Amino acid sequence: MPISPRLGAEEAAAKMAGFKPPYPPQEALIEANRCLFCFDAPCIQACPTGIDIPSFIKKIANGNPTGAARTILTANVLGASCARVCPTSVLCEGACVMLDREHDPVKIGRLQRFATDHVAEKNISVLKSPTQKTDKRVAIIGGGPAGLGCAAELALLGHSPVVFEKKFHAGGLNTYGIAYYKMSPQVSLDEVEMIKGLGVEFSCGVEVGKDVPIAQLEAEFDAIFVGIGLGGSAKLNIPGEGLPEVVDALHFIEQLHSQPLHQVPIGERVAVIGGGNTAIDAVTQARRLGAREAVVLYRRGQGDMPAYEFEQELAKVDGARFVLNVVPVEVLSEGTGHVTGLKLAHTSNADGKLCVLPGSEFDAPFDMVIKAIGEEKQVGLLKKLFPNLELDQRGVVVRNLDTGQTNLPKVFTGGDCANGGREVVNAVAEGKKAARGIHAFLGGEKVSGPVQASRYGVKGAPMGAGFDRPIRAPELEAEYAKHPAT
Ligand SMILES: Cc1cc2nc3c(=O)[nH]c(=O)nc-3n(C[C@H](O)[C@H](O)[C@H](O)COP(=O)(O)OP(=O)(O)OC[C@H]3O[C@@H](n4cnc5c(N)ncnc54)[C@H](O)[C@@H]3O)c2cc1C
Ligand code: SF4
Repeated sequence: MPISPRLGAEEAAAKMAGFKPPYPPQEALIEANRCLFCFDAPCIQACPTGIDIPSFIKKIANGNPTGAARTILTANVLGASCARVCPTSVLCEGACVMLDREHDPVKIGRLQRFATDHVAEKNISVLKSPTQKTDKRVAIIGGGPAGLGCAAELALLGHSPVVFEKKFHAGGLNTYGIAYYKMSPQVSLDEVEMIKGLGVEFSCGVEVGKDVPIAQLEAEFDAIFVGIGLGGSAKLNIPGEGLPEVVDALHFIEQLHSQPLHQVPIGERVAVIGGGNTAIDAVTQARRLGAREAVVLYRRGQGDMPAYEFEQELAKVDGARFVLNVVPVEVLSEGTGHVTGLKLAHTSNADGKLCVLPGSEFDAPFDMVIKAIGEEKQVGLLKKLFPNLELDQRGVVVRNLDTGQTNLPKVFTGGDCANGGREVVNAVAEGKKAARGIHAFLGGEKVSGPVQASRYGVKGAPMGAGFDRPIRAPELEAEYAKHPAT
């Protein structure tokens, strides 16, 4: 049977509403006053954009949310979306010293949202581009978080960036890929508008390599930033994959962002294949949009699942089920032309080596299959655009980590196409670093930071802002173990 939407407009909207509601002002004040305003603030170091977290929290505590937003957005122009989508429990909040005292960490993400919502709602511009411009033009290929981070910083440094984005809207996965209940696409679109306000030009609906030849960009621009992200979901390569109810997770999630929620077809019994965060986002949204059953099928055990634990827990609360140590062998249709189930086989994972157990096949009924087994690298496109660009064995662009410069002197990069796929906050930080690399390449002075002058001279604990040397909370612990605070 073909699948169809399962909920009415109101119910679909209610089910997909944000799972972390904004703070009312009084609650934000109380939460801000829990912060110890640590001098060596480990939360800063765990933030890849190096936001001066105690400083912005102090401003909220002092009744100055506009100043707080300025601190946040100066370090991270996508501070509003990062407040909603960052995996804070492994970044800033995972490093908060309150955890050592067996208290809940300060809710940095929600406080960040409080401050950035304040300036967005009141239409207050906290970032200003210089009135005096250089005559340098930079082409940005891809308007996702990396491209936006690069473009905004270039504009703030006085240059004239032009973003070429193949989709109708800019924002990349922030606009088209993030789970709806974490962030509505409007937040990302508002950020794009704010970046336009800095003087960045956008050329949307234009695919570089198809609508604009790369030779034209090379001739007309002083430098090029490549932020094209990753490609579509990898293929299963099993019989029945072409049936109409077998969908790519990215396509499924994009539908939720580009058409009314109550018009998106959802199966009654949905299988999601994969074990990463995309699989979790897909299964949760399928459940919320009315699937009677939604099951994650993963080829290894629970401990091997790449999805964050807190995301898995969230999916379970939404009623998703997990079936581990299985692989799909065939998508079944019983001659109907539509998905009727999956033939699965059990796997063993002894010594870390995955093998399918012979004779363990079994059939399970499903009417929709969502593929979420990882995104493909854009090797074909990169080689087509720049035949001499150096890629590593993984198919990602090799670059200088501090400047984003590739082996082609005029070409810089950052974000998923260079790091292989991380988080929004990594992409925006890498875009910003590349902008500074481009600035130096174009003859400007070296720009560094964000450096919190008030924190110079901290001894013992890891030093500097996360922007210079981002670390994750578990890594932070390892660092402390090596260098106990003096
Ligand atoms: C399903 C999913 C859910 C995610 N959820 C989270 C989350 O909750 N939190 C989090 O922090 N991270 C999340 N991520 C990761 C995050 O979205 C990415 O790390 C981030 O978007 C990378 O930014 P980017 O700019 O490098 O790439 P992208 O966001 O992919 O942007 C690349 C842009 O380049 C454009 N483009 C490509 N080729 C061309 C061309 N030839 N010409 C013009 N434009 C082109 C694309 O259309 C796209 O807009 C998620 C990722 C996925 C897939
Ligand atoms: S580590 Fe926690 S308590 Fe210390 S400054 Fe950061 S948020 Fe505040």
